[in-house]
This record gives sequence, structure tokens and C-alpha cells, in this order.
Amino acid sequence: MPPPTTPLDTESERALALLRAGTRFLLVGHVRPDGDCLGGQAALARGLQGLGKTVTILNPDPPAPAFDFLTRELPYLTYAGGALPAHDVVVLLDFNELARTGPMAEALAHAPSKKLVVDHHPYEGRAWWDERFVDVTASATGLLVWRILRALGAPLDSLVAKAVFTSLVTDTGWFRYSNTDAETLALAGELIELGAEPAGIFAALFQRRPAEEPRALAAVLARLEYFAGGRLAVTAQPLGNGGAPGLDDGDPLLDILRAVARVEVVLYLRETEPGLCKLSARSKTAFDVNRLARRFGGGGHVKAAGATIRGTLSDARAQVVAAAVEMLDSRGASPRGGRAS
Ligand code: 5GP
Ligand code: MN
Repeated sequence: MPPPTTPLDTESERALALLRAGTRFLLVGHVRPDGDCLGGQAALARGLQGLGKTVTILNPDPPAPAFDFLTRELPYLTYAGGALPAHDVVVLLDFNELARTGPMAEALAHAPSKKLVVDHHPYEGRAWWDERFVDVTASATGLLVWRILRALGAPLDSLVAKAVFTSLVTDTGWFRYSNTDAETLALAGELIELGAEPAGIFAALFQRRPAEEPRALAAVLARLEYFAGGRLAVTAQPLGNGGAPGLDDGDPLLDILRAVARVEVVLYLRETEPGLCKLSARSKTAFDVNRLARRFGGGGHVKAAGATIRGTLSDARAQVVAAAVEMLDSRGASPRGGRAS
């Protein structure tokens, strides 16, 4: 990782100035916050508190139970509607469109506070924030939080270490995807020295799955279909999962399908309420699933993206498959790669 003296660009320096000047912070994540988002929030909260700031973490959805090793240490509040807690700076972590905060978007848009985006997703729209601390090459938002805390001279403890480690392993697929770079691995080593325990974090995140998950996975895998000569793998989960338990976390499924040699792109659609479908898309080549997801109002990274699509599961599936096949046909075979989320 770069030494703490590495000069930051003026945009990032302005973001730091806002963090130094603010006193009451609201740290906001995206809907269904993942380990990168939650880890970034915990690390930033602890670091800012160490600098004497008042910090509230507020998300549109509660953290999944697997993150209890973070939620035991810090309160993660869930937005229940109405006014936001008193604050002068909102820090938005791991997303760059207010719509990603779901029911909080309206309140945030009207809040008179300063908005600071800390993120690693690409963005092409108009700037709506006051400041931003962004690096689209960063493996995780938690890594950006680490850079921020170092630059601010914030105290760093074992909670910060665990939290940033959680961000890194979430978004690199435990250091397997193509966003795993030298800075990420060097930082992982530093975090272990500071008190992050990889085996403990692995066990907490990945070895406490619900008993019904294998059967849920089996039901969704049974609906697997290949397209484009096996380059595209598609599966879907109707409401109720056909009588099987529901699959909560799509990542184990996406990993299994991505393991198939010929598969370049994986699409997983699940009906979350009648007429509303959630798409998760993954690529292991240069195929840009962000571009695919954007066609359906979503977004993400080149190798990991998602969208929420209105319509029945079969309609959504047909549309997304047609778009993906068209994109695959137009670009031919691709070199191999990894992903970031
Ligand atoms: P997942 O498939 O795990 O939900 O999301 C993969 C990646 O796509 C993450 O980086 C996530 O932030 C992004 N993503 C997922 N759903 C949406 C969406 O509806 N809109 C946007 N802009 N990004 C999404
Ligand atoms: Mn992320």
C-alpha cells in the first residue's frame, strides 16, 4: 500500500477537510448492506469517534446476522422513516446514487447537511454530492476508509482492523478476484498485525450458514440453463422458491456457476415481491456486467453488478438473457479475469 505521505488529489483533500471540520456524522450504506459497506462504516465510525466526533450509522436495511462481530461493537441503526438523526455531514459508503439508499433517498436528498461519497464504483452521471473520496481501482470501499483514517491520523484499533478486513474479503472473494492487488494484500497483512483474525472472520462469515441453505441452493441450481453455447449461465428463484427454502445470499450460487470452464457470465434473478425481480450478474472475463445492469436501471462494477427489474420473473429473465446474449455475440470470446463488488 502507498505510504501515508502519498499525496492525494485535490478532490480527496477537500473530502478530508470536510471530515476534519465536521462534528456530527451520519454514515449511510446501501440497501441490503454487504460486508464492504458494513466494514467501511464500522471502521470509519470507530476512527472518527477516536478523533472526538459524534457518529451514527444508519442503513435502509439491518446487517445480516453473520456480521454480529461488528454489530456487537457498534450500533447499526435501521431507518424507520421520518426525520434523520441530527448531523452536519452525511458520509455515503459503497454506492454513488441516492436511489441505492431505497426509502432513505428522499430524506437524504432534502437534508441540508454536506454529502460526502466514499466509493469505488464507476459513475457517469452528474455530481450531486458536496465532496467525494473515490478510487474506482480500489478493491473495496473499506480500503478507501483505511486511506482516509491514515490521512486523518485517526487512532486505529483491532475493530478498525477487523472491519477493514471484512471489507477486503467481501469484495475480493477472499482475495481471489482480479481486484486483489498488492495494496490489498499488503493491507491485509497490516490488519492481521493490528488484530484482525482471518480464520475467525472466515468462520463468522462463511461457516455459520442456515441449515436450509443447501436445499435452497439445490432448488435454484435445478433451474440452471445455459445460453450462448455455454458462455452464459442463468438461473432464477421465483417467490417461495418452488416450495424450497429461500436463498438469502446469492454469492455461493454465483461462485458455483462461475466455476464452470465455459461460463463467462452468470445471471441470477430472484423475484423479491410480486412483479419485482432482483438481478445479480457476474462476469469472469472482460464482459461488462455493469453495462448490462445499466440497461435495466441498475449498475455496479465491470465484473459484478445488479439491478431491480419490474415485471414477472419470466419476462425479466427473457429480457436480461436476450440483452446478455446480444452483448456476448457482439464481442466474441473474451480473455479471463475476476471481479469486484
Ligand atoms: P449483488 O449482485 O451482490 O447484489 O451486487 C453486485 C454489485 O452490483 C455491487 O457492487 C452492488 O453495489 C451493485 N448493485 C447491485 N444491485 C444494484 C442496483 O440495483 N443498482 C446499482 N446501481 N448497483 C447495484
Ligand atoms: Mn464495495
